[in-house]
Amino acid sequence: MTSLAMVLSPPLRRGVVMILSSPSGAGKTTLTRMLLQDRDLDLTLSISVTTRARRSSEVDGIHYRFITEKQFAAMRDAELLEWAEVHGNFYGTPRAPVEAILAQGRDCLFDIDYQGTRQVREKMGADTVTVFILPPSMKELRARLECRAEDAAEVIERRLQNARKEIARWKDYDYVIVNDDLQRSFDDLIAILRAERQRRPRRERGIAEFVEKLLSE
Ligand code: ADP
Ligand code: 5GP
Repeated sequence: MTSLAMVLSPPLRRGVVMILSSPSGAGKTTLTRMLLQDRDLDLTLSISVTTRARRSSEVDGIHYRFITEKQFAAMRDAELLEWAEVHGNFYGTPRAPVEAILAQGRDCLFDIDYQGTRQVREKMGADTVTVFILPPSMKELRARLECRAEDAAEVIERRLQNARKEIARWKDYDYVIVNDDLQRSFDDLIAILRAERQRRPRRERGIAEFVEKLLSE
């Protein structure tokens, strides 16, 4: 909700557009959940639309908005910030909620693939921070997908085949984390977010006002 104070005084910091990508099963949904549960971080998830079937653990409107291909086609050009076909399904990021969060100087978290990352970076440039999550081994990646037990065997095989192509995109990203120890990966993500929040270009106006006051003492 936009408070009166926010309307009167623009945000003193530009929001961070933090993008996490990984091959399926490397752990980005788990890490995303951990980041969102840490209320002090005040991160908001960009909830994607998808034509994929809902998994039993997923809730419509929380993990994704599950829509038909017809609905997707109607939204695609006017309402989506980016979109891509991934593992045979369509996924996209609604633009309006992201813009509303950033207008408040707050940060937005994206769990999207490398194709979407490229599109968001083209549109939002310096506001983006991109992190690629790698599995510690291909064996472990398979074990995680099988252990998650949410996808049919042929879906897992397709995702493992696509994983090699996705992993090859690691060089497109600002940061790379090998998600072996979950807690360490989480700590690394928090460190990245905290450091990015302090970058001078994001705080230009706020710091300029502070320094002006400082020097007037
Ligand atoms: P993704 O969103 O990248 O497809 P998930 O977050 O759903 O992956 O993780 C896939 C499975 O691996 C889940 O069952 C999750 O609990 C498990 N997992 C995630 N990170 C780790 C880790 N560091 N060590 C062990 N298991 C993990
Ligand atoms: P899953 O079906 O496992 O939830 O996600 C499959 C892949 O689609 C993951 O790589 C995930 O990051 C990606 N994805 C999810 N939402 C979006 C989106 O809105 N845009 C794009 N480009 N990729 C997405």
